[in-house]
Amino acid sequence: MPSEDRELLVPFIPGDGIGPDITIAAQTVIEAALNKTTDNRVRIKWEHLMAGQESFDITGEWLPRATIDRIEAVGIAIKGPLTTPVGGGIRSLNVALRQVLDLYSSVRPVRHFRGVPSPVKNPEKMNIVIFRENTEDVYKGLEWKRGSEEIGRLRQFLRSDLGVDISEDSGLGLKPISEFASKRLIRAAMVYGIRHHRKSVTLVHKGNIMKYTEGAFRDWGYELARDEFSDVTIFEGKDEGATDIDGKILLNDRIADNMFQQILTRPDEYSVLAAPNLNGDYLADACAAQVGGLGFAPGANIGDGVAVFEPVHGTAPKYAGKDIANPSALILSGAMMLDHIGFAEAARSIEKALEMTISDGFVTWDVARQIGSSSYVGTRKYAAEIVARI
Ligand code: NAD
Repeated sequence: MPSEDRELLVPFIPGDGIGPDITIAAQTVIEAALNKTTDNRVRIKWEHLMAGQESFDITGEWLPRATIDRIEAVGIAIKGPLTTPVGGGIRSLNVALRQVLDLYSSVRPVRHFRGVPSPVKNPEKMNIVIFRENTEDVYKGLEWKRGSEEIGRLRQFLRSDLGVDISEDSGLGLKPISEFASKRLIRAAMVYGIRHHRKSVTLVHKGNIMKYTEGAFRDWGYELARDEFSDVTIFEGKDEGATDIDGKILLNDRIADNMFQQILTRPDEYSVLAAPNLNGDYLADACAAQVGGLGFAPGANIGDGVAVFEPVHGTAPKYAGKDIANPSALILSGAMMLDHIGFAEAARSIEKALEMTISDGFVTWDVARQIGSSSYVGTRKYAAEIVARI
């Protein structure tokens, strides 16, 4: 941790719906953790950036260029959820932000906080971080509608050039998975795993069926580890019985359907997962559900030299402005941000204080409802209780 007095610039986008409510709550917690763990030496200077409804109302733009430029210049930002404009040119502001800034890793830590209701018996056994590829796979949008002119041409090409027949009543999509995008995602997962002393990185794929896309993802992962991390990697099935394992990380792979069983039956055997886009999407939500769902799911979208931290949940418009929303996911996204920029102690202090707050019976309405309790606190009070425990 840096020792000199300084100001830390943190751009933030409050977001829509409950965004402003949870942003204020998260800011107080993040500031308290940083003050406490640096003896007030590092002070945050918040920089409000425009995006979403607020931006559209003021500037006429949903995602102004100035916002993107500032995030790129500073290298980090934290954001609340943004509403997806209905109609208009932009499909999703979040997708736009990821694409423009080339935030190629979606990173989701999933762990349980004591006291949070869960559908499984031992939710505390899960403590994993999912790295999901964010730029390609079936999310590339390469899809054509049944009966379209494009499908006609594609079917013709497939029949005449490749001898493949696609029935006339089909839609058709492409699933590109490249060596470049796979390796940079898996590299990010390996670097994270090594830096955080995690025990393993698992490549999650469906390579038994999709050999040249998902299977290639797995093969490129092993190749990358051999080329760039051979001194710190133990390869499952090859290095079994190795004795010099201190400081090293195990690299293995699991077929996606098996992985879904493993997260239920042996979650404690897994640590960091690296997956192509679609597997990662399914896995992240399945894992989050095991430890309490959306209210506690933080996330980050990370590229080279730039990272945006945000909760997984959306704008929950019916709770907007009511001081009722659960700010935990944004608070934990703030902890991820602090960890990312070198303030690991502040990050841990937030996680501990949040867990103590819940254990002491202070929960927001969504959690109280799940545990059948009528006792709950508002968003601001919940944040204040966390601050009191930092
Ligand atoms: P949502 O996450 O907003 O809501 C799903 C359910 O969870 C609702 O019942 C909601 O009330 C509840 N919920 C979510 N977060 C909560 C919190 N912090 N505290 C208490 N309850 C909470 O998903 P949705 O309804 O599908 O989407 C609403 C809007 O949010 C849409 O415009 C969507 O496009 C947008 N969205 C944005 C993001 C993002 O910015 N990253 C992510 C998802 C959805």
